[in-house]
Amino acid sequence: RLFNEVMRAKGNIRVFCRVRPLSDAETQAGAADSVSFPEDDGAKRHIHLQTSATGKPFAFDRVFQPDISQEEVFADVQPLIQAVMDGWNVCVFAYGQTGSGKTHTMEGSEGNRGVTVRAFEELFELAQQSWGIYSYDFKVSIIEIYNETIRDLLVKKGGASKKHDIKTNEAGQVYITDLSHATATGPADFKELMRTAGKNRSTGATKMNEGSSRSHLVMGITVTMSNKASGETLTSKLSLVDLAGSERQDKTGATGERLKESLHINKSLSALGDVISALTARHAHVPFRNSKLTHLLCDSLGNDCKTLLFVNVSPASTNLSESACSLQFAARAR
Ligand code: ADP
Ligand code: MG
Repeated sequence: RLFNEVMRAKGNIRVFCRVRPLSDAETQAGAADSVSFPEDDGAKRHIHLQTSATGKPFAFDRVFQPDISQEEVFADVQPLIQAVMDGWNVCVFAYGQTGSGKTHTMEGSEGNRGVTVRAFEELFELAQQSWGIYSYDFKVSIIEIYNETIRDLLVKKGGASKKHDIKTNEAGQVYITDLSHATATGPADFKELMRTAGKNRSTGATKMNEGSSRSHLVMGITVTMSNKASGETLTSKLSLVDLAGSERQDKTGATGERLKESLHINKSLSALGDVISALTARHAHVPFRNSKLTHLLCDSLGNDCKTLLFVNVSPASTNLSESACSLQFAARAR
């Protein structure tokens, strides 16, 4: 398999680019399809934007064209889920402007399920295969980072909202203070957890749709496997992140809350970019502490971990400059 070759050949950060189809609204508004996929090496790893026609195409570990199904995308994510069961901390991000397909990729919809629910099922599937030797414990947390503040989305209704800090324990594991964790006993628990998180998410931000594109959603699944004979345990973590929209904020007109949100989004996404660049360039110092997001994930990004960055782009000519920015961001990881 191509992916497995890629896994062996390079460091621990992969970048998959996914281009969504042109929407009806875009077509009606007269937008043209402005991306193409040169098959120079037959491996479909390049993407061309119309503005870069004279330049070199962008290259990623994988480029998923608009007609690629959720199932096909997950087939290339599956080795990372296997890695979680082998003891690796794994992080999967979706990066891109609002409307580019991040939530479609991660969460998906009924009948078109995304990476998160498939990963959840795969973990249980893999656990079942070695249930005789090991016992497993799956703990789930779901948080939102909005304006550099962590909100617990699994907190019981009516509970007071607490202030959450990021700390490191003696074993070097990063944790969030006072965070609720749900024990998942099977893939069927997923829907209920997502429903709870969805409800809690909408009550906070003033307008749900706007709010959700302006905060990061982080689902954490901590897996503890115990050897039934020896009692030895191994803990690993899968983090699934639907990032805030990466579109450049119009700072000229923005004031008050809007401006504050924009500054926080810019700060945390550029902190993520800086961390990924530092890891890719193998710098001795990685600036994890410049944002809540990177601080929180510092035990899941780096040499002992596996990271997958999806860069989601719209093919519309009207989104060309944002698409170019997203591809440039992702190209820093290579
Ligand atoms: P984002 O989370 O980045 O703001 P969404 O995932 O909500 O974007 O996608 C915007 C719209 O495009 C949604 O209606 C979604 O269903 C659709 N869409 C995104 N990606 C795809 C795809 N690969 N195939 C079909 N429809 C898609
Ligand atoms: Mg979204």
